[in-house]
Amino acid sequence: MRALVVRKEGDEKPIAGVEEISIDDLPAGEVTVAVEYSTVNYKDGLCIGPGGGLVRNYPHVPGIDFAGTVEASDDDRYKPGDKVVLTGWRVGEAHWGGYAEKARVKADWLVPLPAGFSTEQAMAVGTAGFTAMLAVMALEDHGIKDGPVLVTGASGGVGSVAVALLAALGHEVAAVTGRPDNADYLHALGATQIVAREDINETTKRPLEAETWGGCVDAVGGDMLARALGQMKYGASVAAVGLAGGAALPATVIPFLLRGVNLLGIDSVMQPYENRVRAWERIAKDLPMDKLEAMIQPATLDDLPDLGKSILKGGVRGRVVVDVNKVS
Ligand code: NDP
Repeated sequence: MRALVVRKEGDEKPIAGVEEISIDDLPAGEVTVAVEYSTVNYKDGLCIGPGGGLVRNYPHVPGIDFAGTVEASDDDRYKPGDKVVLTGWRVGEAHWGGYAEKARVKADWLVPLPAGFSTEQAMAVGTAGFTAMLAVMALEDHGIKDGPVLVTGASGGVGSVAVALLAALGHEVAAVTGRPDNADYLHALGATQIVAREDINETTKRPLEAETWGGCVDAVGGDMLARALGQMKYGASVAAVGLAGGAALPATVIPFLLRGVNLLGIDSVMQPYENRVRAWERIAKDLPMDKLEAMIQPATLDDLPDLGKSILKGGVRGRVVVDVNKVS
């Protein structure tokens, strides 16, 4: 079978390329899946290239999510022919992932293909969309205040789905982007306002600014998150999803003390089965399919070495959906 394999010798840099490997090479697991689609997420960029401490053993097959058809199963919950989706559980990091024609995983890590989705649509959502849904659900649990909801890293995978979801739920959405040429794309997803990255990202010594945002989905971290915290309305919440702009948080405690701001951490990796099913049900109900289609950038296994580099530089728009069985 074909797979994107990352190899690393000693202190050399990892090298990624498409190879023919044997199904017998797959790691142990109860369910073997014929993979149809996978995607390119920020973490995949790390795992295809420098590793970022995520890859434990080489050779490695990345791909942190996939959708496909069960081929063999030692678990009563799944039988050959069932359509399934996987996100999380460190698949594609610590366990071989979706960048191969087949994957072998624990049954506990899978979710049946959500009703109403094709395997391609499920991967257009993928880890990024699943995480965006978790972030929106966390904001809802804490109450979204009046006023626009800020989405940072808006043209990326998490950001694009968050914009479309929040708009479909009836919220005004302010999309922060460093790429002004993506304004039409973001408006089409439902953004009512485009905010230039440099406007929000500029450093200020003021811990509090005008109360502006009714909530925030932050995919960027760093200065952007620190600045957003000081601009939240009283009692509003920020769902912190990612660190595309850096892991440091140069903030003060003032927004928490004087404005009752909530900082909610979102982790898509270790979500229990019930939460996964609940989030997928909400995605099926609330995410407009035409908006999802507009986010798809198709790719093949052969494109992955270049796409891995591109996503780490913030150069990918929307969701890159990889047709694992297509040869470029
Ligand atoms: P993408 O690369 O698709 O999107 C990130 C976006 O952030 C870019 O498109 C860009 O948007 C913006 N951006 C990139 N670099 C910078 C920078 N230096 N400063 C400011 N903005 C920047 O990644 P994903 O959407 O897949 O993931 C986003 C983050 O969320 C990553 O850190 C990822 O690891 C994390 N993540 C976390 C999950 C969890 O479970 N917590 C699950 C999934 C992802 P624009 O050009 O519009 O500004």
